Amino acid sequence: MTIINSNLGYPRLGEHREWKHLLEHYWRQQLSADDFHAAAKRLRLANLKKQQALGIDLIPVADNSDYDHVLDTLAAFGAVPTRFGHFDHQLGLDDYYAIARGTDSATAAEMTKWFNINYHYIVPEFDDVHFQLLDNRWLRYYQEAKHELGIDGKPVILGPVSFLKLGKRHGQYLDDAAVAELLPQLLPLYQQVFSELAAAGAQWVQLDEPTLVKATDPAEIAPYQQALTALHGAVPALNIELQTYFDSLDLYDQVIQLPVQAIGLDLVHDHGENLAHLQTTGFPADKILAAGLIDGHNVWASDLATKFDLVQQLRTIVTNDQLWLQPANSLLHVPITTKNEPKADPILLGGLAFADQKLQELATLTTAANQGVAAVQAEFDENQTKLAALNASSHRNNPTVRQAEAHLADQTFERQAPFATRIKLQHDRLHLPLLPTTTIGSFPQSRTVRAKRAAWRHGDLSDAAYQAFLKAETKRWIDYQNEIGLDVLVHGEFERTDMVEYFGQKLTGFYATQNGWVQSYGSRGVRPPVIFGDVAYTEPITVAASVYAQSLTDKPVKGMLTAPLTIINWSFVRDDIPTAQVQNQIALALRQEVQNLEKAGIKIIQVDEPALREGLPLKQRHWQAYLDEAVYSFKITTTGVANETQIHTHMCYSNFADIIDTIKALDADVISIETSRSHGEIISAFEQTGYDQEIGLGVYDIHSPRVPSVAEIEANIQRALRVIDVHQFWINPDCGLKTRQKPETIAALTNMVAARDAIQAQLSTPTK
Ligand code: GLN
Ligand code: ZN
Repeated sequence: MTIINSNLGYPRLGEHREWKHLLEHYWRQQLSADDFHAAAKRLRLANLKKQQALGIDLIPVADNSDYDHVLDTLAAFGAVPTRFGHFDHQLGLDDYYAIARGTDSATAAEMTKWFNINYHYIVPEFDDVHFQLLDNRWLRYYQEAKHELGIDGKPVILGPVSFLKLGKRHGQYLDDAAVAELLPQLLPLYQQVFSELAAAGAQWVQLDEPTLVKATDPAEIAPYQQALTALHGAVPALNIELQTYFDSLDLYDQVIQLPVQAIGLDLVHDHGENLAHLQTTGFPADKILAAGLIDGHNVWASDLATKFDLVQQLRTIVTNDQLWLQPANSLLHVPITTKNEPKADPILLGGLAFADQKLQELATLTTAANQGVAAVQAEFDENQTKLAALNASSHRNNPTVRQAEAHLADQTFERQAPFATRIKLQHDRLHLPLLPTTTIGSFPQSRTVRAKRAAWRHGDLSDAAYQAFLKAETKRWIDYQNEIGLDVLVHGEFERTDMVEYFGQKLTGFYATQNGWVQSYGSRGVRPPVIFGDVAYTEPITVAASVYAQSLTDKPVKGMLTAPLTIINWSFVRDDIPTAQVQNQIALALRQEVQNLEKAGIKIIQVDEPALREGLPLKQRHWQAYLDEAVYSFKITTTGVANETQIHTHMCYSNFADIIDTIKALDADVISIETSRSHGEIISAFEQTGYDQEIGLGVYDIHSPRVPSVAEIEANIQRALRVIDVHQFWINPDCGLKTRQKPETIAALTNMVAARDAIQAQLSTPTK
């Protein structure tokens, strides 16, 4: 009996982002629907052939998408919000994209993060749905792979319970009662999909139920049990691989009893818990263990010898014909191939594995398992040599960084005086009015800004000319800010494409990939920096820009940095040392930058932590450690300054209620928070717990070009002032303005200042 391997999903983007260009050309009407479909098919088949050539036995099909897999699921099952129309047939491309992107008459569906991954899915709206199977896309793609390539693929389908739990009704994520109500309506349609697949000859279906990893109470197994009993009962001929990922199963004992033929477990991001369950409880003899061995959301080459040991361990628990080797989750979340990184240091390159290299590792491990390591000894040896070279390299062993880290334990990272003392000193120094106004940092990255940067990158614009351009842009916007009447100014961040990439370019230990794109949402790709070595500070990063901006005005200009955890959350982080250690290295580097800004005369320094909330671990029991580390690294970064220096921070995204204690613990003098998507909720959170520091709750949404009226902004301010003392409150937009245009930005900020002035006037007029 041989062990086989199986993949869970392949990146959509294409090696040269062909998929992205395809979508965008269609949206710009540069491509007909027929040409779109033909090109999408070529890409789909190429991806399948590639997996076949890499030695994958069970190849996923229907994991492709024209935008997002949750959108595909809701479109197939007719769960289209009614504002986009009523459908009794498969959606055409325009109707499909209307849901994702909105139309003049219907706002786009909401998008949110896919578990703890930086991928965004379309949130289903189950308000008044009548499920109907509009398109058995799984059958279409199964048949296509079979007929065109002779591949007997494994259709990937989002499971009915996860599909429901990822959606909302009346603006709220579905609770158990709502799931129980809708599930029976959905199951017959899944049964139909399954029976059509079985009739077409499909052996296996991969049913993704990632929400299972969030279930902690045994009672939560009920809907999964109901769904799987119904599906297996109706179509016993189709084998179900119940796939979980991103963490361990707390309900392991219940899940292994479910009527499925294979269970996919994540053995990489499970904190060792799935393996512990396997060892203590064992695994049922009538099921296949689909073992997620290869990291599916980081970019590092596996240590093949260690992975092989794990395989051998699993073979003491299950028999060979019960074992599949897999990535731990879909490879959608990693870049495609390292072969398009010719500029990478060969030592680093040897330690990297993108999707194709991961599949190669899987094939090698499968051969080792079936034929013995000797059959792939050369690959194993090369792997050891490359990993040893990277680990021994000077990149990973910077003595200065290691020494600084070793001293962390002897220090405490606290400001010199408590907030109450500091804030008085800061007020005396800054002379700000009541309800001071400011912005979050970035100003519009106009076409010109982007063109100049591109020209400079391509060598068509000299360093000096580029620097002169950046200065001119900063001067222009300092003047606008003065004219608008803002109190605390910013330099505008024109030098940054991205708030993480920019710091990555200036610190050691980071590699900016050439083609390491991953899908963020829709056609949008990002290239997260790769943190592969020790992070060290080599020279001032933002000081010159801040000092220049400050030289142009008497008003205070804020220094502007990205905090350690946000850098970590938006990068691919080395896995040979704990992430917290890397985070502290970044914090120690940024601490020097903060001190250098202070030395250069900058009186206010903002350290942005927008990604704090979104990186929260999936299981609540891991939250505290994560949040403690966030606070610790933030304090390393920000506590090395005098009491008079004012530290600001900024965060985006809703649901702050559950991390309010962490916000307090950061001990920032001023925090600005995005609130437009959760206004009431966050204000009541402050009301309940009390908050001493100064705070700006965003008074208008920056995600749309719409200019808010003075009255509207005034109302938002008044609402916040009902629970927050007027002496504590700052007036600012929700977030940075880099995606906006100049006219709307100036108009909105002018209204914001007018709203503040109106409230100031009311406050100084004694009421009867
Ligand atoms: N300072 C950054 C900006 O204004 C903050 C961005 C963010 O919060 N995502 O662009
Ligand atoms: Zn923000």
